[in-house]
Amino acid sequence: MTKRVFNFNPGPATLPLSVLEEIRDELLDCRGAGMGVMEMSHRSAEYSAIHAETKASLRRLLEIGDEYEILFLGGGASTQFYTVPWNFLNIAKQADYVLTGVWAANAAVEAARFGKIHYAYDAKTPQGYLRVPTQDELSLSPDAVYLHVTTNNTIAGTQLHHTLRPENPDAFVVGDMSSDMLWRKFDVRDYGLIYAGVQKNLGPAGATLVILRRDLLERCQPDLPVMARYRTHVESDSLFNTAPVFPIYVVGKVLAWLESIGGLGEMERRNRAKADLLYQTLDANPDFFRTPVERTSRSVMNVVWRLPTTELESRFVKLADQNGLVGLKGHRSVGGLRASLYNAMTLEGVEALVSLLESFAANQRS
Ligand SMILES: *Cc1c(COP(=O)(O)O)cnc(C)c1O
Repeated sequence: MTKRVFNFNPGPATLPLSVLEEIRDELLDCRGAGMGVMEMSHRSAEYSAIHAETKASLRRLLEIGDEYEILFLGGGASTQFYTVPWNFLNIAKQADYVLTGVWAANAAVEAARFGKIHYAYDAKTPQGYLRVPTQDELSLSPDAVYLHVTTNNTIAGTQLHHTLRPENPDAFVVGDMSSDMLWRKFDVRDYGLIYAGVQKNLGPAGATLVILRRDLLERCQPDLPVMARYRTHVESDSLFNTAPVFPIYVVGKVLAWLESIGGLGEMERRNRAKADLLYQTLDANPDFFRTPVERTSRSVMNVVWRLPTTELESRFVKLADQNGLVGLKGHRSVGGLRASLYNAMTLEGVEALVSLLESFAANQRS
């Protein structure tokens, strides 16, 4: 018997067991090709079918219209931090950035290499990033080309539960959805461009999903290196160079799994049940667990909390490890504890975590 732990890592992260089993079964021979996906030409008929099915499945799940292109690129979300401004900014132009965490800050630093950046909101405090803004709290530029938002702040444990909009009617919203893509249904039309490294909620590391409104191609800078141009990847269906075929194949399996469980409505119900259970447990013991994030900004994907001392935190992480609950240490920049409850984390995993937290707290009190 294979030993599987409950994996609360923030990314790369846990994947659905049934998906892993299917991949294992197809590793040596995928669809009768006599070879696995890792060995296939990205131009083969077998892989072409996988590529097309993956995109079609995403279109069904999010009801994405024809005015949007779906791309799978290399380089991770961090590559999009500069690809977005490289395509859409220059020194005569400005973009608004909503600063809600470390990843948002990294994105803004890269954008500042290409054009002028304005912080529409700065959530940074001496205690860290503890909230996301409401629409009213934004200070928007009337002439910004785009508004960049991070929908879920993986390290801080905050999440946008409403859509932020630009002031300039021609501007579009760019969403970094790396850590909450597909946690629920949302309206893609609220965004001009969405990007997500797939290794958090969609698959393994190695591919980045980009959803781009096609008319925006007209606004891209023309003379960029060919791989930096969105147009290149749109015109070649993400197959200009060797696509990350294995991660895309796994994403296809994860999307098929999402459809099989009943789609994003059911996924949202499950995700809320998991997060509610954990937050309720933490809130029920305020003398022992401290949740730094403002309530209405709490993330459903990454739950962060503190224990009374860092020594107790280390002891809990160790105890959890011994009990098959791994990846609970908070990000090194903020400390504390963090449980990543992505789509593939089961309620059973969260129940095991809650029960260990309760007994740990009770033992400390007695
Ligand atoms: C992990 C993460 C990134 C960085 O992703 P890479 O694929 O490692 O470059 C960017 N933004 C957010 C919100 C993330 O969670």
